[in-house]
Formats: sequence, C-alpha cells, structure tokens
Amino acid sequence: MNNRLNNLRKALRENGLDSLLVTQPENRRYLSGFHGSAGYLLITEKKALLATDFRYTEQASRQAPDFEVVRIKGKLSEWFPALVAGASVKKLGFEAEDVSYDAYKQFSGILAEVEMVPVKGMAEKLRTVKEPEEIEYIEKAVAIADAAYDKVSSEIEAGMTEKQVAWEMEKSLRENGSEAIPFEIIVASGPNAALPHARPTDRVINEGEPVVIDMGAKYRGYASDMTRTICVGKPVDKFITIYNIVLDAQEAAESIIKRGMTGQQADSAARDIIEKAGYGEFFGHSLGHGVGLAEHELPHLSPNAEEILGDGMVYTVEPGIYLTGWGGVRIEDTAVMENGRTRVITRARKVRYD
Ligand code: ZN
Ligand code: ZN
Repeated sequence: MNNRLNNLRKALRENGLDSLLVTQPENRRYLSGFHGSAGYLLITEKKALLATDFRYTEQASRQAPDFEVVRIKGKLSEWFPALVAGASVKKLGFEAEDVSYDAYKQFSGILAEVEMVPVKGMAEKLRTVKEPEEIEYIEKAVAIADAAYDKVSSEIEAGMTEKQVAWEMEKSLRENGSEAIPFEIIVASGPNAALPHARPTDRVINEGEPVVIDMGAKYRGYASDMTRTICVGKPVDKFITIYNIVLDAQEAAESIIKRGMTGQQADSAARDIIEKAGYGEFFGHSLGHGVGLAEHELPHLSPNAEEILGDGMVYTVEPGIYLTGWGGVRIEDTAVMENGRTRVITRARKVRYD
C-alpha cells in the first residue's frame, strides 16, 4: 500500500505539485485501501489524510492504516479550509475528470490562497501496472465469469429471450461468488448483435443467428470482462466466415502483443487482419482496454493510443465485426502482460469452426 503512496508522491513532484485531492472512487480505494463510497484523500509529501463522514470513519480507520482519518461534517466550506490549511498546501492538484464544474467552483471559491491545478490520469496511470495480488483478484473474477458463462451458455436455446439469458447469467455470476455485477450484461441476438453495446431486450433468440454475450464478474473490487458470440442451432455460412475472421484477429493479437508496443501497435495486430478480410470499416471500436478496479481503465489499445504496454498490465483483446441489419460477432478475453508477452486469462468456452 505504501508503495502506491510513494509512487503517487513521485508523480506529484514530477508535475510540480505539492498535493493532490483524490475524489475519484477507484483512485481513492487504490491509494488508501478504503472501500467506502464517500470520502476525499488529501495527499502531500508528508501527509496522507482521508476525510469522510461519520458513516465511514471506523471503516476508514480499519481499511486505510496509512492514512490519518479526519471526520468531516456539514458543507464543504465548513471543513475543507481547515483540512487544507493543516496540510500547508500551495499547489493543489485535483482530478479534472472527476470533479464537477460546480464542485470546482466551490473548492476554488473556498481556497483563495491555494492554486488549483487540473490533473488527468495521475493515479490512473499508476493503476495500469498491477501488483501480483491484484492480478490474483482479477484472475479470480475471470474464473467466476468463465464458470457462469460455461454453465448458462450450454442451456441457451431458441425461444429464450435476451433478457432471460442475461438474468440466468447474472444469477450464475452471483452464485459463483461475484461480488456485484460490474456492468450490465449484454445479450444481443440477430440484428441487435450489430450494436456493440446493445442492452438485453425481450427479443426471442432464433436458430441460426448470432448471439453476442458480454459479461464480467467482480472479486475483491476487481473486475473481469469477456465476450463470446454463439449461434443456436446450425450457423449459416456467413456467420462462420465472419466468426473465423474475428477469431483469427483475436488469436493473432494475443500472440503478437508484446512489452514495449504502443496501444496503437497492439490494436493493429488485430485490425490489420480484419481490414485485409475486407471488414475494416465494420470494426468501429478499439481493440481493448485496461481492466482492474474499474472494468474500463487504462491502458487503451486503440488506433491512437501512444502509451507503451508493459509487464503487469491487464487488458482485454476484443475485436468485432458488426453488420447493420444482420448482426455481429465480438470475441473478448481478459489478458495480462507477463514476461513481455500476452497471457490470456479467460478460459470460457470458445466455439471453433473448421
Ligand atoms: Zn466486455
Ligand atoms: Zn471490454
């Protein structure tokens, strides 16, 4: 835990700041260990303060031993000045992507003497490189989703609705030990499968059409993310053709993505194959994203991502092809970079056609 604070302080120095106000929930949890849903961290070179209200002070003391817990009450203007004054802050970074305009006005109105500096992705970048324990938790979340998927997918038949399948998946995730559902499960059949982020509807699943299922589990705060595309009954030739292109692209990317590549190069590993097959314009999203305390986090594996991939990063590999009116295919694994290579964690059943 201390290591995370040290790394954050190093980032503060590199950015010429003497302190950071952390409001983003996953960053708060990552840096302090505190799981509660309300609270602020104020981190300086010397101090680590966790300000939260009476509902959480005891929990905070237990979960965040490296932080001094400060009990707060009432409006921001009643406690924030004293908190900042006690930490002798002059140049205070705040999380620009999390603080609302209204909150920013309040903070800066209260702190006439303090310079508020917008900060982007500071703690998020630290979170990209996972510690062994974090990888263990993600592996457990992956295993829970694999088990749920393998059980329920074998029971899907024509005549079930998308919502029914999603609910069976959700129950199975919880029965297998998932803490919560990290994101709404996608079950998209037939033409609905052409929408990468479709929501389950009352549509009845028919034989011969694609069904995209995208789901994840959560374990000790860490998420997993996977997608499979199946066909109930006998698939049509078009399905097999598209499916095999997506699968080839995914397998190529998983073997090609290595330490030192940019997110853009990783994305190309799959995109080149889909483009060569003539479906480039139908792969409209990026190849993958980081997974951790949030189900979508850094790094990006996308056509304009310059960040360099390295050991300890956990990311998805999820190429897809979407054809309006017909449907789509996406196949997604969660993977970790280890010894310079991509190691796929997801083991959920993957259909293969020769
Ligand atoms: Zn997904
Ligand atoms: Zn994903």
